[in-house]
Amino acid sequence: MPDFLRDPAAFVPLASLIGLFVGSFLNVVIHRLPKMMERDWHAQAAELRGEAPPQGERFNLAVPRSRCPHCGHLITALENIPVVSYVALRGRCGHCGAPIGGRYPIVEVLTASLSGYAAWHFGFGAAAIGALFFVWAMIALAFIDLDTQLLPDDLTLPLLWLGLALNLGGTYTSLSSAVVGAMAGYLALWSIYWLFKLVTGKEGMGYGDFKLLAAIGAWLGWPLLPLTILLSSLVGAAVGIALILFARHGRNVPIPFGPYLAAAGVIALFWGEEITKQYLGVF
Ligand SMILES: [Zn+2]
Repeated sequence: MPDFLRDPAAFVPLASLIGLFVGSFLNVVIHRLPKMMERDWHAQAAELRGEAPPQGERFNLAVPRSRCPHCGHLITALENIPVVSYVALRGRCGHCGAPIGGRYPIVEVLTASLSGYAAWHFGFGAAAIGALFFVWAMIALAFIDLDTQLLPDDLTLPLLWLGLALNLGGTYTSLSSAVVGAMAGYLALWSIYWLFKLVTGKEGMGYGDFKLLAAIGAWLGWPLLPLTILLSSLVGAAVGIALILFARHGRNVPIPFGPYLAAAGVIALFWGEEITKQYLGVF
């Protein structure tokens, strides 16, 4: 194991830099994974109808190369440097000048900052490296849910297994707490979902939310689940009220719950134990 990484002065900048490039990749995941799932569903539906699967160009996280959605200009490697290219091109396509969404650099900076913080918070070791993957998954899930109201199984389920695997050695919590956390996380939201549906006849969230909280429970253990639910509800309620008041967001427009769960999961990963001690101390 390289010794210099034990020094935060080396590990934190390295993790931030890796985070910057991973953030750039997460933009691709956020954009393409829902489209890949949709293609998959169409192919399966065609197969069930006994038809040939729809033909089209290959489409996955690696191909085709990114293009400007406005003019079709292929993004060059030089135009693809996280944040730097965006600033150098002043947020415009280098070919046609069409504006590029500000969300790309935001996702990159967010990923870099949280990656650097994870490195600083845990110090070099399994906990820090695991935390990087946890944070990256939360960012991808939050933005995919925001865009499409989906939380892909392709992300939530591997995340759940990885959490259990890391806790085999007690990285964040004991294995028994992780297993109970995964089950209780799923069941907690499943129960709220059915209660809400029985009382109001509406669906307040989706099965993806249950799986996401199950994954968070597998990583952090069951004692942090009440805090995670509380935090996500508080943030969700605050944002929901603000949207209705200031953005004239219709009361019946669904607001995805996943981004709040993801944010609460990250908060619980870094400060959950401290916050829990504080509020248990109050009673
Ligand atoms: Zn263009």
